[in-house]
Amino acid sequence: MKEPDINLVSVVIPVFNEEASLPELLRRTRAACAELKQDHEIILVDDGSRDRSAEMLLEAAEEPDSHVVAVILNRNYGQHSAIMAGFDESRGDLVITLDADLQNPPEEIPRLVTAAEEGYDVVGTVRQRRQDSLFRKLSSRLINKAVKSATGVDMHDYGCMLRAYRRHIIDAMLSCHERSTFIPILANGFARNVIELPVAHAERSHGESKYSFMKLINLMFDLVTSMTTTPLRLLSIVGSMIAGAGFFFAILILVMRLILGQAWAAQGVFTLFAILFIFVGAQFIGMGLLGEYIGRMYNDVRARPRYFVQKVTRTRNLSSPQTQDKH
Ligand code: UDP
Ligand code: MG
Repeated sequence: MKEPDINLVSVVIPVFNEEASLPELLRRTRAACAELKQDHEIILVDDGSRDRSAEMLLEAAEEPDSHVVAVILNRNYGQHSAIMAGFDESRGDLVITLDADLQNPPEEIPRLVTAAEEGYDVVGTVRQRRQDSLFRKLSSRLINKAVKSATGVDMHDYGCMLRAYRRHIIDAMLSCHERSTFIPILANGFARNVIELPVAHAERSHGESKYSFMKLINLMFDLVTSMTTTPLRLLSIVGSMIAGAGFFFAILILVMRLILGQAWAAQGVFTLFAILFIFVGAQFIGMGLLGEYIGRMYNDVRARPRYFVQKVTRTRNLSSPQTQDKH
């Protein structure tokens, strides 16, 4: 199947407290995009930064004939929601996502476009010589394994956000209404031809990772529950296994008590406690998981908008008028 031509490329970048990297990011992304033979727009979404990021984005967007589009969200919604807001604003036939921290070089953008032109609708990337902590590397290897077995889509590096998606994939993603999304996996669900390119990965040059430990855990739960309801089924399987084991132990203890008499039973108290603790622990894990799903249902039932765009500044406009205040 032949993919349509690419006339406009949109680059979507979520920004959360990145004032230190912004000047270099803008310079390098602009330079990389200037090399494209297609027209381009650079959409920067401010995810409720508390530093000067939002003002810097607006300044960049207000320059005459600027390719930069600034989308300002009223508060922090998280990286993936911010990217969704950027998608909604994008008009390109091909949309490229990128992190603001320059860990993935913007210089790779032309390569992604070329790969997409060859007829792929999703272009992923694999980080070479990844510059992250061991904990991050291990956890992402685990995630990759889980995703592969749950979705059947064979991709290696879901954490790497330097990716390109065709328009129809973007539209499909925008039509999804769940609030907890993990974009690379969501996209794969709609893709037909997927390719992965190796890209360089640098250390974060300015500031710290914007993902705290809690945010990472949150993301992992988003990831698991957005893919599949298998954990729910696993819960009942594990539950029945534990119940079976409990039954077995009960009989064992009864038999031992009958054979060896009272003394043995008293010594077995602590074993029982240990077993009990394991069961209680398992129950709590199960309840927590159930809670995760119920929490998501609650959120989706409320059907709040995924994000709220406060302001969009677009100077070099393709059709509609200048700065729109969405109030
Ligand atoms: N980010 C965001 N909202 C958040 C957290 C992060 O928009 O709540 C952005 C951040 O500015 C960066 C990207 O998401 O552009 C990835 O964040 P970071 O580099 O801190 O994550 P890591 O590289 O540690 O996975
Ligand atoms: Mg990063």
